[in-house]
Order: sequence, then structure tokens, then C-alpha cells
Amino acid sequence: MEKISAVEKVELIKSGKLSAEKNIKDFLEKIKSENKRINAVLIINDKAIEEAKKVDDKLKKKQKLGRLAGLGIIVKSNICVEGIEINCASKTLEGWVAPYDATVISKIKKEDGIILGMANMDEFACGGSGETSAFGPTKNPVQADLIPGGTSSGSAASVAAGFCDLALGSDTGGSIRNPASHCGVVGLKPSYGYVSRYGLVDMAMSFDQIGPISKNVEDAALLLDVIKGRDEKDPISYERESIKLESLRNKKVIIGVIKPLAKPNVQNLIDSKIEEAIKRFSWNKKLVEIKYIDVAVQIYYPIVYTEVYSGTRKFDGRRFGKKIEDVAGPELLRRILGGSEITKAEYEGRYYKKALQVKELIKEEFEKAFKTVDCVIVPTCPGLPWRIGESMNLEEVYAYDALTIPANLAEICAISIPAGKINGIPVGLQIFCGKGQESKLLSIAKEIESLR
Ligand code: GLN
Repeated sequence: MEKISAVEKVELIKSGKLSAEKNIKDFLEKIKSENKRINAVLIINDKAIEEAKKVDDKLKKKQKLGRLAGLGIIVKSNICVEGIEINCASKTLEGWVAPYDATVISKIKKEDGIILGMANMDEFACGGSGETSAFGPTKNPVQADLIPGGTSSGSAASVAAGFCDLALGSDTGGSIRNPASHCGVVGLKPSYGYVSRYGLVDMAMSFDQIGPISKNVEDAALLLDVIKGRDEKDPISYERESIKLESLRNKKVIIGVIKPLAKPNVQNLIDSKIEEAIKRFSWNKKLVEIKYIDVAVQIYYPIVYTEVYSGTRKFDGRRFGKKIEDVAGPELLRRILGGSEITKAEYEGRYYKKALQVKELIKEEFEKAFKTVDCVIVPTCPGLPWRIGESMNLEEVYAYDALTIPANLAEICAISIPAGKINGIPVGLQIFCGKGQESKLLSIAKEIESLR
């Protein structure tokens, strides 16, 4: 991973000390030489250098440069970038070229950010390890025989491997935070509606959010501030004020902790980070109870299966690529078939409707908790990444999201930041804050990050 932050690099580019062209060329060369080993990037934007030159020209002409001037950004392959193949790492959409930019991409381009290419991912964002891609698994740059986590596997691996300054992922049940945790980088899932989903190929519309993956908290804040906000093309999006990072060192922050849900070695590392923060700052700790959190996974999947089924009906081979049922991998197919069964039984309101009702209860539980604490801290993942190809039973894989899914159910914001390593393997610490409290979330994360 490059040492220099994106925030610092923009300043170098704006002052003419580094050209955008060189920045982009260096990344492209690195991807060319190292991507074979990691398989994080599926498609390169062949106009990236040309676009970088335009940024340098703007500087020469003394025109104002945007907030992401000349930075190289890798995008998950389910977010539309005009003129580039967006395949969701599936044979279904192989060769499909996006006819327009997603709102997040237009915003990035407006701020002079450069799209380097499209990242590998789990097929249609279904999975959690980076192994369900139709184009081969992504490897963890920290240790290539391990999974990088998923489903934004290629985005997190690209940041960790130094292929880009910033990356975009999407998170339905943990897909930004889980790979960030396993690759030792920062990943933020915004509150539901904080970022426009226009141009995102949806996985489950009740939960999906696009968010930043970066080397540090400040970089994540920068990218989030650029992509956030109301968009008339996404009715659930809403306007928010600018993100402000404030120092909380001498403020009374109350950290909520819930009963351990992770393996002891992971939980111990997180606990010691919390203790360290409390000792160093004048913070406090308070035990909170979130009822029904233990059934989060059981509530999440009926909703996801139903929405994957309904969302993929348009992939019938007429307008887009191939018929999805003919080419989908086993995990995606399981969800499509499962969703079709659930919706058949749904006239009795037994699954989808019931799950949505319990989702609301969990949301209320978090709202109650945030009346007494500023944030809740838990591990991002319950364990360490497994070996690529290791056979895992489905229940184990699904249970692996037990600590990330609650944020999607409650519609709140959550971030994973590196907490340290166990036997050389990164472990992520996850912070939850209330809906729309992104500034507070990032400020708390920045303080904890400084404990490194
Ligand atoms: N692993 C979870 C799932 O398979 C989350 C995926 C995601 O956030 N896109 O549904």
C-alpha cells in the first residue's frame, strides 16, 4: 500500500509537484505487473491516461481543479461507468457496456477523479469471500492464499495492493466492511439513502449502499463527501450537510459495547483497542443491549433472496447479455430459486413481510441505544479469513456476516478500520453510529485510527 494519502496527493497534484498523468500511469503499470497474482481488477479504463492529461491541462490553464484532481479510483463492477464493461463478475452481463454514468461516477468525474478500471467482486454481490466471481477469485494482497473477503473483494484488494488511491464498493450486508477488514484497509457503509444508488446494479434494494474504501479515515471522508447527497433519480436519497471531521480527544464519547459475538482472539483485540481509546481519551464505555441482533442473519436472508429474485427478472437474455438462470454460479442461483419459492409462499405473509417487520424492530433497538451512547463498537468479522477454496458449509458462510448485517437492517452508518493483526493477518474494528451521523462516525474512527 502506498504511504501517501489521497488527501495529501491531491495537494501535490494541485500544486503541480506531481502530474495526474504520472499518478495514473504508475497505477496502470503496477496493475499490469501485479494484478495477475491478485486478480483484483477485471477491466482497465483505456481512456484513463487521456483523462489524466486533461486534468494536467486544466492546471496549466490555471483553471480550478476538483477535490479529487488526478486521483486514481477503482470501481466495483456493479456500478455503471459510461463506455466501460460492467459485468457484475457474472457471465450474464459479460461484454455489457454501460450506456451512462452512475450518479456517484458523475460526481467523481466532476471533481476530476480518474476511473482506473473495474474491480473483481462476488457474482452480483452475492457471497462474502470474493470466491463466487465468474472470473476467478480475488486473492488477499496480504497473503495470497487467503480470501480477501467480499463482495467488494477487488475494490479492497486494489487499495491494499496499491493499485489506486481510492475505491468504490457496495454494501448490502457487509460487502464493503468485510473485505476492508480482511485486507487491512478502511471501508465505510453509509446510512441508507445517504448516497444515490442510481446506476448501481442492485442486489437487494432494501439494503444496498455505495461507499468508499480507502487507506485511511480521512480519505474515506473525502470520497464520501463527494458522492453523498440527494439525487432525484434515487427517491430514497436525501440531502446532508458536508462532512466535518472534529477532534474528539477531549470530548466525552460514550462507546456502546454489546456482548461478545466474535471468536475470542478477534474479540480480545477489539476489546483492547476500546480500552486503549478509553485510557488515552476521556471516553467511557457502556454495555448496551440490542434485542433481536442474534437473529439478524435469519431476518436478512429471506429479504435478500426475495429481492435478488425480483431484481434479476430483467436479466432474461432479451435486453441484457445471457439469461441469468442459464449461466449463474451456484450462490446466485440459490438465491434466485430460493426467492422464487419464498414469493410463492408469500401470500401468507410468512417470510418477506415478517422479516421486514423484525427489521423495523432492530432499527428501533438501535435508535434506543443511540440515545444513551455515541457509537457501538464490535469486530467487523467474527473470525480470520479462510483459505481460498476451503470447503465451508453455507450456514457458516452466512453466519460470517452476523456483525455487519445489523447496520444494514437498522439503516445506520458503519465503518471498518484496521485494529491490528493476528499472526500477520489484519483484523477490522467496526463502529456503528446513528442514521445520518457520518461526521460523528468518521471523527470517532479517526481518533481510534490514531492509536496505531
Ligand atoms: N455476504 C452478504 C450476502 O451474501 C453480503 C453481501 C453484500 O453486502 N453485497 O448477502
